[in-house]
Amino acid sequence: VKEIFDTMTYGPAPESSVEAMAWLHANAPFGHWIGGKFTAPGTTFASHNPATSETLAQITQGTTTDIDTAVTAAGRAQPKWAKLPGHKRAQYLYALARLVQKHSRLFATLETLDSGKPIREARDIDIPLVARHFYYHAGLAQLLDAEQPDMAPVGVCGAIIPWNFPLLMLAWKVAPALAAGNTIVLKPAEQTPLTALLFAQISREAGLPPGVLNIVTGDGATGAALVAHPDATKIAFTGSTDVGRKIRTATAGTGKALTLELGGKSPYIVFDDADIDSAVEGLVDAIWFNGGQVCCAGSRLLVQEGIAERFHTKLRARMNGLRVGDPMDKCIDMGAINSPEQLARITAMVDASGGEKYQTACPTGCYYPPTLITGLGSADALMQDEIFGPVLVSMTFRTPAEAVDLANNTRYGLAASIWSENINVALDIAPQIKAGVVWINGANMLDAAAPFGGVRESGFGREGGWDGLLAYLRPKAASKPLRSTLAVPAPTSPEV
Ligand code: NAD
Repeated sequence: VKEIFDTMTYGPAPESSVEAMAWLHANAPFGHWIGGKFTAPGTTFASHNPATSETLAQITQGTTTDIDTAVTAAGRAQPKWAKLPGHKRAQYLYALARLVQKHSRLFATLETLDSGKPIREARDIDIPLVARHFYYHAGLAQLLDAEQPDMAPVGVCGAIIPWNFPLLMLAWKVAPALAAGNTIVLKPAEQTPLTALLFAQISREAGLPPGVLNIVTGDGATGAALVAHPDATKIAFTGSTDVGRKIRTATAGTGKALTLELGGKSPYIVFDDADIDSAVEGLVDAIWFNGGQVCCAGSRLLVQEGIAERFHTKLRARMNGLRVGDPMDKCIDMGAINSPEQLARITAMVDASGGEKYQTACPTGCYYPPTLITGLGSADALMQDEIFGPVLVSMTFRTPAEAVDLANNTRYGLAASIWSENINVALDIAPQIKAGVVWINGANMLDAAAPFGGVRESGFGREGGWDGLLAYLRPKAASKPLRSTLAVPAPTSPEV
């Protein structure tokens, strides 16, 4: 066997893009999805494959009128959708989940072509999590009438999402909104609208009533028009802290419900008693999954002084083994950076920083190498600002108290990882970290049933679980008069 293996040469193993390209050719240029059908394309812009810079499709830039048409369609559909019993809405959500699974290969290849993420991640992580999110919320819809009888849907939801997990972020907004009896107008990121448009098409296959789901493509101006629409009664936003701040300002005093899932600079804390090999492996996932373009990326390594050298040596060795390249190659670990603009942002931030850089090989083009930076002070920009790329900054600490101080020395508060074989240490530290989610001996452990969200400048509100669903409900303005079971029965005869 060894002889056979020695004579074999391994080349790239590319996933086929034939089906995805055929779908694009059959459907592009794209209009918006409003009232259960595609509108005629308007003024368009191109969506690119960042790995090849090839134009994939022309997409319509949504205008204020388009947003108004979509919100009106959603408003018309909402009362009827809300009147359906929860188990009826659940049937649609189950159908959507099932259809995501049925078309998972097409979704995964389209996602990878549009975003640059490795096909392995799109196929094994993003798309299965999307299906799971719809299945889970179908279950919640089924339970809703019994579990939350005094709650009502908020109405028409406006959702705005980023480019790093295009279809998964759609699922995080659409599934709870629809489960709770709302209708939705969703604006995908301008860099990655394609899987949202495919999802629109499969919503017809699922028989979703027209107007329940509407998708308007475009850039930040389209998002701002959605936020400003008076009949969008809830805004759910995932994206940068800067845009989150603008949206909070724009919605202030309007009475709109709002949830913001923003950026992060999450600490990854390794104590000297940690299982080092597992912690290194966890860190690969924490910072190089999706090229570090992950809101909860463990981008700040805090390692206890006594093991720092050994840990960094193992980490560098592991970095040398990371394969960066064509996202459609099933064997690569890290794909392309999402856009040339994002690549320029990452490059500028790292070039402007001091410290000692360790970088491994990567192809030319829209790629950035896995990077480790040591020797920075805790006030340095790279220690404080979200990079949103494959760049890890590392510092050491001596005591648990110092670990907590360093971990909390940021304006963000999205996630944190703690690595220790001593569960008492981990459980003592966890509540002291200012973060919405704390993982112990793990990273990026996302699940539809686990509420996810931030504190401080990472935003507010939760997505996932009952907490996530409650963000799409409000107390009923009117409830039925109480019929007390304790009422004394009316006398049946004058003697009683
Ligand atoms: P971004 O804020 O630039 O854009 C996000 C979305 O907002 C896009 O659809 C964009 O078109 C839209 N937008 C831009 N300006 C707008 C405006 N004035 N009004 C309304 N909408 C507007 O963010 P990005 O660069 O696409 O994504 C990266 C950021 O998203 C990172 O900071 C990352 O941490 C964050 N993120 C957070 C989470 C989370 O769950 N907390 C998840 C993923 C990404």
